Amino acid sequence: AAKADGRACFRFYNEAMNARSVEQLKLEEDLREAMREGQLELRYQPQVDTTTGRVVSLEALVRWKHPVRGLISPGDFIPVAERTGQIIELGEWVLSEVARHCTFWETLGLDDFRVCVNISPLQFNQPDLVERVRYFLEHSGLRPSRLELELTESAIMTDAKTNIDKLRQLNELGLDLAVDDFGTGYSSLSYLKRFPIRTLKIDQSFVADMSSHDGVAIVDAIIVLAKTLNLRSIAEGIETRDQLRHLAAQHCDLLQGFFFARPLYPEDVPDALRHVYAQDIADALRD
Ligand code: C2E
Ligand code: MG
Ligand code: MG
Ligand code: MG
Repeated sequence: AAKADGRACFRFYNEAMNARSVEQLKLEEDLREAMREGQLELRYQPQVDTTTGRVVSLEALVRWKHPVRGLISPGDFIPVAERTGQIIELGEWVLSEVARHCTFWETLGLDDFRVCVNISPLQFNQPDLVERVRYFLEHSGLRPSRLELELTESAIMTDAKTNIDKLRQLNELGLDLAVDDFGTGYSSLSYLKRFPIRTLKIDQSFVADMSSHDGVAIVDAIIVLAKTLNLRSIAEGIETRDQLRHLAAQHCDLLQGFFFARPLYPEDVPDALRHVYAQDIADALRD
């Protein structure tokens, strides 16, 4: 009986697997079409300077408006794009779209904020990434100092030794580098020190866990680590006043989360850039 059960189980597993790969295949096909047909869109989420309350940077976040399935979140299609290599084309599209939006905002006199762009591991591992970014900067006219690339901890720490050169070359283009989702992978502290990184981005899972003693301890430790290494710290996923109060009291440099603003349509960015959150931060600190 055990044997028969095992077989049934195996068959079930197989069918589930097939259903999944059919689903994946469809998603891949659809994504190819999405890029052709302009179904991808960018949103921009404000990052607030803790001391001034001003929006000093925006993170570009991609969205997919699927004609049948509705809005698909990047958490569902970025991994697919990463697996199939479509992320390369998608990543180039994101950069060109960011440049297009920045050019428009410049016509409104808005040009003193940074834009942060997520770079996936496969994108980062392209042998000619530096050339591609250099080409992008030259042709888009975007001042390099206005661009920050968010790289994941695992992408840069895997093969850290060979990545040093690439990170230095990127840095020499004049842009900033951030480590995204910091604390979820493993970082070699000696490399962290040698990498030309500007920003540590505390993963939102730690911020979400700040109601626990351990959660707070981890967040505090990352902020101190950033200060020690002379890096900018930013916390993402701030939703509550309690989280804000603690992070501001610990002098986390930048703050990002629904508490301030959700990822915004490009047309709502100008108003967001003019908004100052100094009062919200002061109020949270007073409580
Ligand atoms: P990420 O880079 O860590 O981006 C932060 C995510 O947290 C975003 O999810 C953002 O909408 C969400 N978020 C921000 N504030 C809050 C908050 O207060 N509460 C909660 N619960 N969530 C918050 P999103 O836009 O769904 O993106 C998910 C991930 O997909 C990103 O994580 C990033 O890894 C990836 N991604 C998004 N856009 C791109 C892109 O253009 N290129 C690449 N390679 N990856 C991207
Ligand atoms: Mg990010
Ligand atoms: Mg992140
Ligand atoms: Mg994250």
